Amino acid sequence: MVAEEKPRTVYWLDNSLYLNITNRCSNNCWFCFRNFKQGISGFNLKLKREPTTSEVTAEFEAALRLKRWNEAVFCGFGEPTARLDILLEVARWIRKRCGGSVLIRVDTNGHGYVLNKDRAVAEELRSAGVDKVSVSLNGHDEASYAENCRPMFDGGFSAVLDFVKRAKTAGLNVEVSAVRMPEVDVEKVRAVAESLGVPLRVREYIPCFW
Ligand code: SF4
Repeated sequence: MVAEEKPRTVYWLDNSLYLNITNRCSNNCWFCFRNFKQGISGFNLKLKREPTTSEVTAEFEAALRLKRWNEAVFCGFGEPTARLDILLEVARWIRKRCGGSVLIRVDTNGHGYVLNKDRAVAEELRSAGVDKVSVSLNGHDEASYAENCRPMFDGGFSAVLDFVKRAKTAGLNVEVSAVRMPEVDVEKVRAVAESLGVPLRVREYIPCFW
């Protein structure tokens, strides 16, 4: 039974390994899968507690024995920059363990600077070996973003834009992502992405969650 599956920090889809290092998030998107799903592709992503760096790397090491992976993606049922130090430690470990053979990506809600005051978040990600950030933007202005993503602070939309700009400046490969659904005006989000000089990736809703 799915409900009895052990909570997973490391899980996989196709040729990518995913890291679910936290279930905390500074948004409360009405469409978030964790509100009504247990995980993805049979992996339980509902953590009973947050894993330590060594627990994450031990699970990752075990997964490395299964096959050759193309990328490691920090993406789970929470915002990875809510645990910035663990994220950085694990990214450094992956870069050392896998060299350049594995691309490291962080899927983020773009609130890294709000969650980590006085930190050089983008530069720290880059120097830890992160190659790319995929920043979710499910709104085209403060009002639509607030309605869809319900951030825990004011100015959520501006915070995401600021993160995208700083990530670009830090030399990270940056894309913006949006979920295709009636409440998101994809063309307006595309215009925002274009104004920032980054590509937009449109994701279909519920491709493989259970
Ligand atoms: S930003 Fe992602 S993890 Fe956070 S509430 Fe929204 S969909 Fe869920």
